[in-house]
Amino acid sequence: MPTELWLQATLGGVLGLLIGSFLNVVIHRLPRMMELQWQAECAQWQQEQQGSSGADPVPPPAQPALSLSRPRSRCPHCGHAITWYENIPVFSYLALRGRCSACKTGISPRYPLVELCCAALFAYCTARWGLTPTGAAWCLFSAALLSLALIDWDTTLLPDDITLPLVWAGLLASALHWTSVPLADAVWGAAAGYLSLWLVYWAFKLATGKEGMGYGDFKLFAALGAWFGWPALVPMILIASVIGAIIGIILKINSRLREGGYVPFGPFLAGAGFAAMVFGPQQMLQSLLGTLGL
Ligand SMILES: [Zn+2]
Repeated sequence: MPTELWLQATLGGVLGLLIGSFLNVVIHRLPRMMELQWQAECAQWQQEQQGSSGADPVPPPAQPALSLSRPRSRCPHCGHAITWYENIPVFSYLALRGRCSACKTGISPRYPLVELCCAALFAYCTARWGLTPTGAAWCLFSAALLSLALIDWDTTLLPDDITLPLVWAGLLASALHWTSVPLADAVWGAAAGYLSLWLVYWAFKLATGKEGMGYGDFKLFAALGAWFGWPALVPMILIASVIGAIIGIILKINSRLREGGYVPFGPFLAGAGFAAMVFGPQQMLQSLLGTLGL
């Protein structure tokens, strides 16, 4: 690689490490913040019901004190506040040998892995598209998909706070010519992405009485439609379904399925999104079929 490309990839990688560190906070806290918000709304609704029935007023529920910036990160085991030099992406984990400095409890290796993964994605995007608006757009796309995949895997939630801005970002990136997708294809991609999974959801529900996926999946697929255009939807859903089915069967054989046997679909949609970004939506299907010998 020429020097300039190395420089761009290194800058992207360092930025990716820092953003990856922030994504760890988002992945950990955003679902908890949503839960606290729902609890506060439920408590408020109950209070309003009691108020209108003439019962004694209940004190207002405490507002959620958790945000992405507050409070400071702490060791979940001993409560030791993590200092800035214990919070340097990857390096602190290696320097601490994966243990809390106060109580020596092991820190999950997932934290440095998320940081490394984000760094690799950012380095790829800046090496391929340079330090340009297009490169920045794909870095943003990668960061959003990475956090959505892990939040969905952990909690089976796909927060609107990430999926909906991702739809708009895809449409804007197309309108500004930062992606190579024509604006009409992006708009139809977003609409068809949402509607197609919505139809599958209702067909499945009417046929079996069960819910096969959640509304977050429709919004994530709409976002992929906005970023890659409507012609990419069929190859992406095929890849996500095939890989999802394979992983589902592997988990079932190893009896590692969680209660209810539910495998979240979001991580596989995200995986298809990454494949489409790296290989292009048409080529990725060809290479998959080629690997299967078809
Ligand atoms: Zn500790």
